[in-house]
Amino acid sequence: MAETTENVTMDKIVSLCRRRGFVFPSSEIYGGIGSTYDYGHYGVLAKNNIRELWFQAMVQERDDMVALDSAIILNPRVWEASGHVGGFTDPLVDCRTCKLRFRADKLDEAQCGRKPSKHPGEFSECDLTEARQFNLMFQTHVGALEGEGSLAYLRPETAQGIFVNFKNVLQLARRKPPFGIAQVGKSFRNEITPGNFLFRMREFEQMEMEYFVPPEDAEEWFHYWVEERFRWYLNLGLRESHLRKREHEASERSHYSSATTDLEYLYPIGWSELEGIANRGDYDLTQHTQHSGAKLEFVGEDGERYTPHVIEPAVSIDRILLAFLVDAYDEEIVAERQRTVLRLHPRVAPVKAAILPLIAKNADMVDRARSLYQELRKGQIVEYDDGGAIGRRYRRQDEIGTPFAFTIDDQTLEDDTVTVRDRDSLAQERLPLAGVRNWLGDALERPWQTPKPP
Ligand code: ATP
Repeated sequence: MAETTENVTMDKIVSLCRRRGFVFPSSEIYGGIGSTYDYGHYGVLAKNNIRELWFQAMVQERDDMVALDSAIILNPRVWEASGHVGGFTDPLVDCRTCKLRFRADKLDEAQCGRKPSKHPGEFSECDLTEARQFNLMFQTHVGALEGEGSLAYLRPETAQGIFVNFKNVLQLARRKPPFGIAQVGKSFRNEITPGNFLFRMREFEQMEMEYFVPPEDAEEWFHYWVEERFRWYLNLGLRESHLRKREHEASERSHYSSATTDLEYLYPIGWSELEGIANRGDYDLTQHTQHSGAKLEFVGEDGERYTPHVIEPAVSIDRILLAFLVDAYDEEIVAERQRTVLRLHPRVAPVKAAILPLIAKNADMVDRARSLYQELRKGQIVEYDDGGAIGRRYRRQDEIGTPFAFTIDDQTLEDDTVTVRDRDSLAQERLPLAGVRNWLGDALERPWQTPKPP
């Protein structure tokens, strides 16, 4: 696997996320629970932005899409039909010596428990079991009695909730192919080799869209969605040198898929799947038709009848956030001091602007700053900060990626202007106080490119 040449490491990202309250290990005071994380204030804000930007591109700005929010716990027969009960498994091996557990197909990415410089199975003391299949679905029970009849699963993907609602949407939203159903929500997988922070979690938030098309158009729509999704990341400022498309070999593809392309990002762990786009054919609708008895097909006014094929772009907000954080992380020396800055796209940045009175003890400055803050917060997430030296306040905002800072100073009291400082270039310009709200609105609409070298 290729390594990034930059000085961004997963440790630096984890430490910044924790220090600035983006992400905490879950139930930490009890020692945590593997690969489950809680999002703090800035993490929530950034995730909200990513979800909104996805929804805007996938639903709001299109005529051919509807939204859905299906349940997490579905009738367990859904997962029998989808193939998850029988086949959503990873091959697992245990080491009898170090008692660690590994994915048999990812041994070359794992470290031996006794000798970390080697992979499991390579050290003389390793004693690996035969691989056995391990189902990744979390089980639960529905109702008061535990037993076979009450067994249910936490969904491992949101897609099946979409397929089982196909008929509802077709009839009640009066759609005809090509059209899509988009859904965002938590998914759960009992990953065997979790780790790598937000990249592989046991509980994550997926954004999936199932696009139903006439069978003969499936290939064309598949390519369309690969390009569309690739462009979405570039528009949000991800460096093209760190994003690539990778077509799956036939041997890697899921049983239902006739083509899959991953969009991969160059994470600190190497090139890895950020988003997957799959041509699922008619597999899911056919399976649910057979298992449920409900005919999931399209019938046109002229009697034309077929089972649509499905193109699916699937991603998690968590993997997107991790890619954005890695892409944005930068360290530089400014005026002989190091600053850490998150060069996030302004629309992804958790806080859009900081409002800072230059001198916190000056009541006039504080008044003006607070009233600007009151005005701006009606439209955007902004922060007021009067704690400490101005340089320190700028650095605090740089670290969370706030693109603009408005400073109220002596001159403001004379001529009602403020300085706006740009996070990336550090350029400062003066604006009339009365025009700040519009200026900020326009600035957030402008295209943005990272100043980081490719
Ligand atoms: P991988 O091969 O990395 O396990 P996958 O091929 O099983 O991923 P899919 O089933 O295609 O993943 O899931 C679709 C998307 O959901 C992925 O591209 C990724 O963005 C996200 N995703 C899947 N598993 C996880 C996880 N454990 N943690 C965070 N995001 C995940």
